Amino acid sequence: MVQLIKNQRHKTHAVKVRNVTIGGDAPVVVQSMTNTDTADIEKTFEQVRDLHLAGSEIVRVTVNNEDAAKGVIALRERLDAEGLDVPLAGCFHYNGHTLLNENAELCQALDKYRINPGNVGFGAKRDKQFEMMIEKAVEYNKAVRIGVNWGSLDQELATKLMDENAQRSNNGEEPWSADAVMRETLVQSAIISASKAEAIGLRPDQIILSAKVSRVQDLIAVYTSLAERSHYALHLGLTEAGMASKGIVATALGEGILLNQGIGDTIRASLTPEPGGDRTLEVRVCKEILQSLGLRDFSPEVAACPGCGRTTSTFFQELAQDIQHHLDQSMLVWKKEYPGVETLKVAVMGCIVNGPGESKHADIGISLPGTGESPAAPVFIDGKKACTLRGDNIANEFQMLVEDYIRNRFTSDQPGEKAQAS
Ligand code: SF4
Repeated sequence: MVQLIKNQRHKTHAVKVRNVTIGGDAPVVVQSMTNTDTADIEKTFEQVRDLHLAGSEIVRVTVNNEDAAKGVIALRERLDAEGLDVPLAGCFHYNGHTLLNENAELCQALDKYRINPGNVGFGAKRDKQFEMMIEKAVEYNKAVRIGVNWGSLDQELATKLMDENAQRSNNGEEPWSADAVMRETLVQSAIISASKAEAIGLRPDQIILSAKVSRVQDLIAVYTSLAERSHYALHLGLTEAGMASKGIVATALGEGILLNQGIGDTIRASLTPEPGGDRTLEVRVCKEILQSLGLRDFSPEVAACPGCGRTTSTFFQELAQDIQHHLDQSMLVWKKEYPGVETLKVAVMGCIVNGPGESKHADIGISLPGTGESPAAPVFIDGKKACTLRGDNIANEFQMLVEDYIRNRFTSDQPGEKAQAS
């Protein structure tokens, strides 16, 4: 029997972030981050709303000065007034201790504080400033992400580990590569900081770790090591993933390989948007990663063949696109009316070669006529041929059949027959 190459989920503490749980047995959570000036409340509100409605279950905002701190407080009020219960994470660097210490309302408005141990402060001040931030999280019972980043490594720790590495030659051992020392520094920095946070009073179920790098192999090595050494909830993310297909592919590979090994409790896709581009792309990418791995179901899937010389018209591509668009647009309403509809599988295929077979594997599928085939499109429902569509109205008729199928199978008064919660 062919086995799935899929490991059991790595055990982690379940961390409550407002109404969302990260880690434990909770589904892997989708996160995103705004790129607006947080002091601009209107623009930030709009982007948080858009990210949340696109599926981001937690949204992070920059908190870099007093105006941004005030912006967070107003943002929370605005979100609450609009009935948007999305948790907010605040991203701090350098002055987080001051901002949190001087703004009780900020401490309360945020649901999670992101602290980068490499950017908390320098020398003797570093530990004190880290302690001040953790104390606020303890006081307000908030979650903390201890997020190390190879762009802002803890230099003291890096120097110590490099010195230890230099000793390896003296001891007759093979010295590590510079990259291996860098990876070890990241992992140790995250774990040492988490231990310090616990010593200050933060519970393990308030701590999430991340160790972001920009190369896929480094990401896999670092998170595998973090999972081997601790049970803190893990936030996966490739930093500076890049633009367009490069960023999407690298993110999907790095995070996908780890998730398939059971590592990772929440994910973000740090994509660089095109100028004026749609920020919600990073949310859609995260959802696609989780749905492709079978870890979550967000929306019905349309399987479509790529087309080839047997499809000389674009009709089937247009139909696949229209169906996917229609399903996506309808999900906000359907999710309430038809529980489990997100698990639906639709197939739109271009010719007889793979069309009937693929359509039978879907819940509902259509095999369109390829070039030179008779102008008939058999429709398969639950693996059996249900009817054949002909003429100029095939697209509309198929769409109606899909809607009928959803109504019949996912009605809320027959919950759960085939539905699964994600
Ligand atoms: S199903 Fe037909 S049209 Fe689609 S790729 Fe295969 S052979 Fe080509």
